[in-house]
Amino acid sequence: MSQSDRPEAPSPATVANGSSVAATTARVENPAATATISSSLRLRLNPNKEHRAEEYEDLQLEYCPAIFTALESYLPPSMLNTRREDKAKFMHDILAKYMPRTEQTRIQKLRAYRLRIIANYRPLYRELYTLNPTAFFVPAFVKAINENTEQSFRSIISEPSPGIFTFQMLQPRICELFLSEIENFEKFVAETKFRIMRPNIMNKYGVVLDDFGLGPMLEKLMEGFIRPLSRVFFPEIGSSLDSHHGFVVEYGKDKAVDMGFHVDDSEVTLNVCLGKEFSGGELFFRGTRCEKHVNTSTYTEEYFGYSHKPGRAVLHRGRHRRGAKATTSGHRVNLLLWCRSSVFREVKRYQNDCSSWCGECSKTKKERQNSLITATKSVLLAKKGESTS
Ligand SMILES: [Zn+2]
Repeated sequence: MSQSDRPEAPSPATVANGSSVAATTARVENPAATATISSSLRLRLNPNKEHRAEEYEDLQLEYCPAIFTALESYLPPSMLNTRREDKAKFMHDILAKYMPRTEQTRIQKLRAYRLRIIANYRPLYRELYTLNPTAFFVPAFVKAINENTEQSFRSIISEPSPGIFTFQMLQPRICELFLSEIENFEKFVAETKFRIMRPNIMNKYGVVLDDFGLGPMLEKLMEGFIRPLSRVFFPEIGSSLDSHHGFVVEYGKDKAVDMGFHVDDSEVTLNVCLGKEFSGGELFFRGTRCEKHVNTSTYTEEYFGYSHKPGRAVLHRGRHRRGAKATTSGHRVNLLLWCRSSVFREVKRYQNDCSSWCGECSKTKKERQNSLITATKSVLLAKKGESTS
């Protein structure tokens, strides 16, 4: 089984993990940065909730400006009202300790690559680049998200198999606009002979939406719409989704035929069918697994097949093992949003016990509990037998 479905785009930066960002220990990957930093350089454990953080968009920064805004309320009290440049420098020095130089170089290169595309590519439909919920989504979906309760979500979302959620999401018109925009971008790539990066090693047909300006829209989609669903449906991840990788995949003649068995490099995956006309292409699911159990067999109750319908979304954990059957005719285009959580990944590194969300781990845990109950029962019965005899 292929487990290396890693994207060519960046994985999330392991920075700004709330209170865990304290620059007291040095990382060996970045000796240049550590040499200039005093060990007293640290953030507060809890943010100053009254503080209004500044915007950093207009400064030339090595890291994403949003990180600086998010981090600002964790600054030491004496720093909060100093010059914006000084705060940026302070936070930059801390961030530099947490991101190896190679990672910084990779991100810089990616940013330059994206800027080059955006400077040359002229979007067809500007309205796709800013998320307007009523134009994008079907009314029931908008209503459920606004109500933001498990009950409202359950009223429009079905869970045909544990951990797999399906719902009507995109307006037909928006699907059409997306299809035209993607076609237009592919045309631009072909005409200009621009060498683009494909979504990941398993998807050679498709484009990364973040590369040509759709990143901010997708970030809003994750923050405002997927995060609330994740909080309810994937408790171990909760509201911690903090970065994404968005792309489309294309199946059909002269495109990919099927998709091998795999797991994603994401915590939560949103998969929406954009169209067009097609037959085949069903997804087959085979249960969620942790790294240790990724190749274990599938239990009967974990087998599930899903047929795509334009505008309809399927939401599941990235570790839900699956593949796509051959698209036998027509042309199928799907939008994928891999949502990631740096907090979840960090916590997982220190976890030794089994994962509640892994089918194999929970099975083992249940069996252990059952045998414990049986053993306790027999001890108690034996005791009872002794006392009554
Ligand atoms: Zn497991």
